Amino acid sequence: MTLSLDATQLDRYSRHIIMDEVGPEGQGRLLSARVVVVGAGGLGAPAIQYLAAVGVGELVVVDDDAVERSNLQRQVIHRDDDVGTPKAESAAAFVRGLNPDVSVEPVEARVDKSNVHEIVADADVVVDASDNFPTRYLLNDVCRFEGIPLVHGAIYKFEGQATTLVPEGPCYRCLFPEAPEPGTVPDCATTGVLGVLPGTVGCIQATEAMKLLLDEGEVLDGRLLFYDAMDMTFETVPYRKNPDCPVCGEGGVDSIEDIDYVESCAISLD
Ligand SMILES: [Zn+2]
Repeated sequence: MTLSLDATQLDRYSRHIIMDEVGPEGQGRLLSARVVVVGAGGLGAPAIQYLAAVGVGELVVVDDDAVERSNLQRQVIHRDDDVGTPKAESAAAFVRGLNPDVSVEPVEARVDKSNVHEIVADADVVVDASDNFPTRYLLNDVCRFEGIPLVHGAIYKFEGQATTLVPEGPCYRCLFPEAPEPGTVPDCATTGVLGVLPGTVGCIQATEAMKLLLDEGEVLDGRLLFYDAMDMTFETVPYRKNPDCPVCGEGGVDSIEDIDYVESCAISLD
């Protein structure tokens, strides 16, 4: 698809347009893309900010929470005045103010089995910026069944991780077949997180999403990236497709209806 850029766009995206790896064609691809970001919190804020700035044409922002003052230490798209506003709305207002080329669709909902197909429909890339295991596994599974690339990110105190799950590569369950039991892993609300940490990881997710859209570079397919902010180290650990994976392996399930996402993301084979 060719999309002609107007004078304002040629100016706005000039630093992309002069690069061989993007150029007017790549910018056209970004402007014609639809990206779904699940979560408008710590990881979602930088991901949404950059995806809007670079001109992703359609951004769907999904979040069911409202902005709290304790979010503002790291969730940089929300402002003090937004406290009490739904995060999806606050994020959409940010995007509209930053880049009128982006059509932003706020979805004030928690992703679950009943709405996930509709939410990810027609997405070119899904960015998992959620903060809980049921959502993480649900997105892995539905994106696998629908053939949509998914960019995963997670944070814990001053450590982060990211990987990119492409339809033909290993999936998140090849790495971790099931979520830990509820209550065995602390979440951000109880453990704390260094304010800048999600900025780094969310930017990595936005970078991966852009590369997928542009079809440039090597994404973190089959590689899990670990970032330690205290040691300032990045390490990548390779992983493979698990032939016994309950979702992408042979004999795995082929629908999210066979999986229980509320308790432990376990797969029911009865
Ligand atoms: Zn798998």
